[in-house]
Amino acid sequence: MRLQHRFAQLGNEFSAHTHVQPLQEQRLVEINKRHAQYLDIDIANAQTLSILSGEATLSDSLSMVYAGHQFGGFTPQLGDGRGVLLGEVIAQDGSYHDLHVKGSGQTPFSRQGDGRAVLRSSIREYLASEAMAALGIPTSRALALFDSKQTVYRERPEIGAMLIRTAQTHIRFGHFEYFFAHKKPAELQRLIDFTLENHFPHCLNTEFPIKAMLIEVVERTARMIAKWQANGFQHGVMNTDNFSILGETIDYGPFGFMENFNDRWISNHSDHEGRYAFHRQPGIGLWNLNCLMHAFSGHLTRDDLIDVLKHYEPCLQEHYDNLMAQKLGIKVDENLEPLLDKLFALLRREKLDYSLFFRSLSHLTPNSPELLLDKVIDRQAMSQWLDYYWSVRNKSQVDDAQHKMLDVNPKFVLRNYLAHEVITAAEKGNYLPFRQLLAVVSSPFEEHPESNSLAMRSPEWGKDLEVSCSS
Ligand code: AMP
Ligand code: MG
Ligand code: MG
Repeated sequence: MRLQHRFAQLGNEFSAHTHVQPLQEQRLVEINKRHAQYLDIDIANAQTLSILSGEATLSDSLSMVYAGHQFGGFTPQLGDGRGVLLGEVIAQDGSYHDLHVKGSGQTPFSRQGDGRAVLRSSIREYLASEAMAALGIPTSRALALFDSKQTVYRERPEIGAMLIRTAQTHIRFGHFEYFFAHKKPAELQRLIDFTLENHFPHCLNTEFPIKAMLIEVVERTARMIAKWQANGFQHGVMNTDNFSILGETIDYGPFGFMENFNDRWISNHSDHEGRYAFHRQPGIGLWNLNCLMHAFSGHLTRDDLIDVLKHYEPCLQEHYDNLMAQKLGIKVDENLEPLLDKLFALLRREKLDYSLFFRSLSHLTPNSPELLLDKVIDRQAMSQWLDYYWSVRNKSQVDDAQHKMLDVNPKFVLRNYLAHEVITAAEKGNYLPFRQLLAVVSSPFEEHPESNSLAMRSPEWGKDLEVSCSS
C-alpha cells in the first residue's frame, strides 16, 4: 500500500498527533476486497493489516480540528473525537483517498465522549456507504470492519467496533469555519491554498481560483443532495461539520432510506423540530453553504459570494429533474413536474413504498397495469395517473426505456428493519445475514432471486424502529 500524508504537512495548528488505540481482542470481520483492489491495497499483507487495525504506529497519524453549525447553532471547536486519519492511499488511477479509522479511542477532541463506536452504528455505516456508492451517490466508502470483546456503553452495553473508511477528503465546511471564527487568517489562507492545490488544482488556472473552487463546491453539494432526494435518502444530521468540501456524503448516523412515501419524514428521532426532515434537505444544503461562504468573507466580496450561491438552486433542480425523469423513463419537459406532483400525492395517500413503486413501474407495460393497480385502494386515481404517464412516456420516446429504468430503480434498498436484523445477528457473532444484505445493496439493480425476501416492505414491527444520534 502506498501511504502518504499531505494533510499532516500543514502542521499542528490543523490537527493533533494521535494513534489508534486498538480494542480488546479486536477481530477483522469484513474487508471490502473490491475497494481494496481499486486502492491498490494488498489485504493479504500482514503489514497492511497491522496498519488498518491500528496496531502499527504511524508517525503522521492525526485527528483533525474543525468547528461546525450543529442544528443551527455554532460550536467553535469540534474535531475528530473518535477518529484518526492514518494517511492517504494512492489508488490504481493515481487518485488519493483518505484512510480514516472511526472508533479509534479518545483524542484531544473527544470532549465528554469515550472515543469509541459501537458495532451497531459501524455496521449501519458500512452498509450505507456501500449502498450509496452502488446507487451512484458520492460517498465515503467502507474498507474494513473490526469487532471486539470490549463493551461500549450507550443506552445499553454494546460491542465496541472500528470502521476503516476512505473518502476523497475529510476536509469539512467546519474546517474553514474553525479558522475564520478563531480569527486565524494565516491558517485559513494555508487551508484554502492546500485545498486548492490538492483537491481543486484545475481551479488554479482560472482568473479567480477561490471563486472557481467555491462554485464547484456549491455545484458538488447541489448534485449530492439532488441524488439524496431522488433516491429517498435522508442524512439525519446535516451539520456543517458533516459536510465534505468535495460534496461526498460523510458521517452516517441516524440516516434512512425512504420506505412509505412521506416527504415530511424525519429519520433522526433526536431531531425533534424536524430541522433535517426529508423535504428540508435541499434548503439546509444552501444554509450550510451560506455558513461556508461566511468563512470566505475576507476573500470574496459580498456580491461575489452571493453570485457563487446562485449556482446552487438551478444546479440542484436540473440534476433532480434529470434523475426523476430517468426513474420514470421519460425526457425532461413541462410534464415532469405535474406528473411528479400527482404521483407523490398518490403515493402519500396510498402509503406506497417509494422504491418498490419505481421498481414496479419499470416492469410495467401499458396492457398490464394490474401490477400497480392491485397495490392501491383507489384504483381509479392510479389508473388516471398511469394514463397520463403513458401519454408522456410514449411521446418521450426514450430508447430502451425499460432497461434504463431497471438500471436506476433499485430492487434492494437498505431498509431500517433489515439493518436491525443483521445487527442483531452480528451482535450474536453471526455475520452471514450482514454479508447477504451487503451483497444485495452493493448491486441493488440485479435481481438476486435467492434474496427476494430482502426486497420486501417492512413488516409491522419494523416500521417504527427508532434511530437516534447515539452511535
Ligand atoms: P457526529 O454528529 O457523529 O458527526 O459527531 C459530532 C462530534 O462529536 C464529532 O466531533 C465527533 O468526533 C464527536 N463524537 C461523536 N461521538 C463521539 C464519541 N463516542 N467520543 C468522542 N467524540 C465523539
Ligand atoms: Mg461528524
Ligand atoms: Mg460522527
